[in-house]
Amino acid sequence: MTRSRCPRCGHLWDYRGSSTLYVTCPGCYRKVLREDCTVYATLADEVEARIRDLASILGLPATAVTRRPGDAGEEVVVCLPPASTS
Ligand SMILES: [Zn+2]
Repeated sequence: MTRSRCPRCGHLWDYRGSSTLYVTCPGCYRKVLREDCTVYATLADEVEARIRDLASILGLPATAVTRRPGDAGEEVVVCLPPASTS
């Protein structure tokens, strides 16, 4: 479930589908980019989501991205595979 806000009409709803690109706003029935309407609870949630997107583009497993408390707030940690020696 993803808290979502339509960038066209401002309608707020909980998206329960699995579309990764476009979703249909239940308020105005227009198709909007899912990324444009996702509402994150905290900045750390948004940063983690965007880093996860990048990690998946790079072919990293979902387990490569983790979050932990740090000295200055929350830290998003990306574990890279060992460098290939071939
Ligand atoms: Zn709308």
